Amino acid sequence: MDSSPTQTPREKLEAWLRYYDDLNLGAFYTDRRTMGKRPIKSAAKSAPAELAAMQPTTVSTPVKAAPPIPLLPIVNAPSLFEAIDRIEGDTLERIREDLGECTRCRLHEQRNKIVFGAGNPRAELVFVGEGPGHDEDVQGLPFVGRAGKLLTQMIEAMGLTRDQVYICNVVKCRPPENRKPEDDEVATCSPYLYRQLDAIAPKAIVCLGGTAAQALLKTKDSISRFRGTWFDFRNTKLLATYHPAYLLRNPAAKGEVWKDLQKVMAHLGLQPKKSSR
Ligand code: URA
Repeated sequence: MDSSPTQTPREKLEAWLRYYDDLNLGAFYTDRRTMGKRPIKSAAKSAPAELAAMQPTTVSTPVKAAPPIPLLPIVNAPSLFEAIDRIEGDTLERIREDLGECTRCRLHEQRNKIVFGAGNPRAELVFVGEGPGHDEDVQGLPFVGRAGKLLTQMIEAMGLTRDQVYICNVVKCRPPENRKPEDDEVATCSPYLYRQLDAIAPKAIVCLGGTAAQALLKTKDSISRFRGTWFDFRNTKLLATYHPAYLLRNPAAKGEVWKDLQKVMAHLGLQPKKSSR
């Protein structure tokens, strides 16, 4: 296509149109003033005369309709972010080994024993507490103090034994004076908890108290707002209920906890233990 500096804009435009026509590009422009007002098909007919005159007369290549955009298949699988830290074939032994004699956060400084977790590695039900107390720190086992005894009674009322379930905590070392674990301590320890839950792959997770529920559900909401409600945690059903230590201080809340545990039992197809009286 030749263009000379002496051409008027109209001559230049006509030259460009002839050039595109020679290349068989066909009609590639439209009257923007008519866009959205009437079908494009009728645009040439109704366009102002000077625009209509510029329309190429020979359109040798018909404009093909754009192929339909393929829809992405909906895959019922973990999202990329959920999948990223899943370790194929992970085991509780390997997780314990990786944890080692952990010094990753300040909680190691005053601990006596790491409380990794205890129970059935293939449990259908996992209880997650907050962190070890004095008795747990001494024995290296979860929920063995007063609150632990109440948890044992709750498990047995569900028709199960402690050996059939798995019990662990958000942090694996006792926080000094039984204080709540700090956010950075939870963040440092929770990858091991996630791995434990992934490795066990239970049918249900019960969070005991706000700290466990907040750590797994990534919320700062008070547990009283969402206890007894099912959530999805990495494709596993998760329900939060009050911590047994709270029940020791507020026995009146036991009824609500029992209602929550009955929902878990219904999900697992469990019958309550028959009273021996
Ligand atoms: N409280 C917890 O949260 N975990 C234990 O192991 C004991 C008491």
